[in-house]
Amino acid sequence: MPIPRDVVAGVDMGATHIRFCLMAADGTVLNCEKRRTAEVIAAGLATGVADFIQRQLAVLKAHCCGLVMGFPALVGKDKRTVISTPNLPLAAGELHNLADRLEAVLGCPVEFSRDVNLQLSFDVAQNGLTQQEVLAAYLGTGMGFAIWLNGAPCLGAHGVAGELGHIPQGDMALHCACGNPGCLETVCSGIALQHWYARQPRDYPMGEIFTRAADDPFVQQLITHAARAIATGINLFDPDAVILGGGVMDMVDFPRPALIERIKQHLRRPLPYQAVRFIAASSSDFNGAQGAATLACGRFIPQARHLTALN
Ligand SMILES: [Zn+2]
Repeated sequence: MPIPRDVVAGVDMGATHIRFCLMAADGTVLNCEKRRTAEVIAAGLATGVADFIQRQLAVLKAHCCGLVMGFPALVGKDKRTVISTPNLPLAAGELHNLADRLEAVLGCPVEFSRDVNLQLSFDVAQNGLTQQEVLAAYLGTGMGFAIWLNGAPCLGAHGVAGELGHIPQGDMALHCACGNPGCLETVCSGIALQHWYARQPRDYPMGEIFTRAADDPFVQQLITHAARAIATGINLFDPDAVILGGGVMDMVDFPRPALIERIKQHLRRPLPYQAVRFIAASSSDFNGAQGAATLACGRFIPQARHLTALN
């Protein structure tokens, strides 16, 4: 019998869809698939995820060396505890010992990660930045932010570093979904933009906000808020590069050059002002799952074999 091929698995779990990626030890993507989350978890989260991966492993005649699974949630520094998942349709108890249960079924190590760090890992690998210091701002539903330091996402003391969306630079009269007053996300997020859009009847779809309402004070303020927050991050961390992306920045006519100009206005001179580079995040469906698999490669495949793929 031939020796099964070594692969790693990445899973990006969202409220609506769950995405899977199997990657060879050299970083080659072998298979990416997307399923409805409700379908996968119908028989239980651990069973659903493990079954799916095992079916793919059987097709590829492969052995899984490790799994990284991302959640739209805070994940503890132990990389095994999902702290809070307000956005996931999970029954109570589904997350209890989930890493242990997945490891028992799959027979390989399992780590959890925050979804924003999956996207960061993908963008960093894609742009050949693994050895650099990188910040990423993903303006989507919320204001996602992530920090790449020393070859890996920076987690902080408790796993929750980089919550730029929750710095107190928003509307103090409003409460954020996190429970705190005045978070940046109250004025700078896809949700804030949606609330503004729904405030009165408009003769254009939400996707055309940056085409049809570019000069509206709220829209202008949103860009200014984003610029100030991102500039703050840059002045604090002095990164080589800043990745900019997310669903709002992907909208038609989003004023990316204006955002970058406003960020630069607030950067410390001469450095990091003169040196920091801005890079657009790529936005494909499987970035998160591929980022998870890339992290799994780094964690569970011996160094020499995956570095060629990342650099
Ligand atoms: Zn908040």
